[in-house]
Amino acid sequence: MSLIDDIRAVVGERGLLLGAEAMRPYLTDWRGKLTGDAAAVVRPASTEEVAAVVRLCRRAGVPIVPQGGNTGLMGGATPFPGHDGILLSLGRMNRIIELDPVGYTMTVEAGCVLQTLQEAAASADRLLPLSLGAQGSCMIGGNLSTNAGGAQVVQYGNTRSMVLGLEVVLPSGEIWSRLRALKKDNTGYDLKHLFIGAEGTLGIITKAVIKLWPKPKDVATAWAAVPDPQAAVELLSLAHAASEGNVTSCELLHRLELDGVMQHIPGVQDPLPRRDTFYVLLEWSSARPVAEGRESMASRLEQFLGEAMEQGLVLDAVIAQNDAQAANMWRIRESFAESGRAGPPAISFDMSVATSRIPDFIARATVAARAVLPGIRPSPIGHIGDGNLHFNFKAPEGMSREAFAQYTDPVTRAFNDLIADFGGSISAEHGIGSVKIGELAYYAPEVELDVMRAIKRALDPDNLLNPGKIFSL
Ligand SMILES: Cc1cc2nc3c(=O)[nH]c(=O)nc-3n(C[C@H](O)[C@H](O)[C@H](O)COP(=O)(O)OP(=O)(O)OC[C@H]3O[C@@H](n4cnc5c(N)ncnc54)[C@H](O)[C@@H]3O)c2cc1C
Repeated sequence: MSLIDDIRAVVGERGLLLGAEAMRPYLTDWRGKLTGDAAAVVRPASTEEVAAVVRLCRRAGVPIVPQGGNTGLMGGATPFPGHDGILLSLGRMNRIIELDPVGYTMTVEAGCVLQTLQEAAASADRLLPLSLGAQGSCMIGGNLSTNAGGAQVVQYGNTRSMVLGLEVVLPSGEIWSRLRALKKDNTGYDLKHLFIGAEGTLGIITKAVIKLWPKPKDVATAWAAVPDPQAAVELLSLAHAASEGNVTSCELLHRLELDGVMQHIPGVQDPLPRRDTFYVLLEWSSARPVAEGRESMASRLEQFLGEAMEQGLVLDAVIAQNDAQAANMWRIRESFAESGRAGPPAISFDMSVATSRIPDFIARATVAARAVLPGIRPSPIGHIGDGNLHFNFKAPEGMSREAFAQYTDPVTRAFNDLIADFGGSISAEHGIGSVKIGELAYYAPEVELDVMRAIKRALDPDNLLNPGKIFSL
């Protein structure tokens, strides 16, 4: 029997896709920029099936690319061209195994779509705070494997901080199961953290115990025009204290991206009538319901923004008066990636520096990129509460995609050199995948890469799981 027949015997016909047409959606990345090959797309329905498939592949020396919702932006889930192994999709493993509102936890399979989990938590009066633009398609196993960040890290941390237990199929085909809801467990190395953010190179995450929080009952969302990034950072700094630690999101927005959304995304409204360059989307929330005699978050936020206007930190602001207005503000923010695909050619960076250094970084990165290509148009946006920018540079007006492409490498080098000068990160939340391998090799200390390689070799001596991603061996 061939390997495919053996795999079919494990996962059944429903769990196997063969042929270019059926496999196509799995072999192209979300941006539509990367395409690869696979001998088969395998869709197991249980941990035992995943383990059996891994064992078969190991015996045959066949590599495996794990995939969740395929929304990753670094090519981690896309096989390379000529890949003759399998792509293993977790999409059929989508059960919520247990929701424990008393213990504030949820035990789930890796293929659960993030939004489904958010909704399940909300229906139990709990919050799963992981929140990102791709939440309607990305899966919790993918979120864990990329250690996804998103819009509420400033309050709740990134995915890593939301995990209590994991179940993983190792490259050997063994199942490592620590599905425990323990907040304290100092029994040697905390292995779950090895697999979180490993981008599928060390094991296949099959289940997780996720932490939940109280569901916010009093939420205030504001859209504020600010004079510059310095004002945005100062506003955030003051907001932490003024809200008594209740800032749940703080996003920097740029006019160029806003214009792109207005042009390409139907049904959104520009929240403020005036045109400025920089805006902040600020959200405060509390689990205490609004009650008579107690000031609501919205009224406290309004007072705060009024004072910030007097200090010159805010030019104009509007507070959402209802859920629809708040949803419109968030839809604009979450559509930046989508409208960016339809807009002019751009070079995009996902990076971080210390929050207080963001204004200086934006100024110096603008100078550095313009030294390479005068007329390049910077549009820094992102989760400034975490020091994380999605720093886009759009082509000068009228420049063709081909002409602009020549500047990608020199702009990238100038930009990433500056990140290194600032002691920042060349990948704040999207990971390395295949796209940033060269940059990681260029900037990471050799000793760090050596440790990563040693861990990889120890767990996956045959280099079967997602080979060639993050670093080359
Ligand atoms: C519109 C949009 C907005 C986004 N916004 C954000 C954001 O705000 N913050 C952020 O951090 N990211 C963001 N992303 C990136 C992306 O959504 C996240 O990285 C997400 O966590 C990926 O989940 P996924 O299920 O799609 O994973 P995939 O793309 O399928 O896979 C990502 C990586 O994880 C590996 N993998 C997947 N599942 C498993 C598993 N079960 N076991 C082992 N390895 C696995 C894959 O091999 C790959 O290396 C955004 C993407 C889009 C398209």
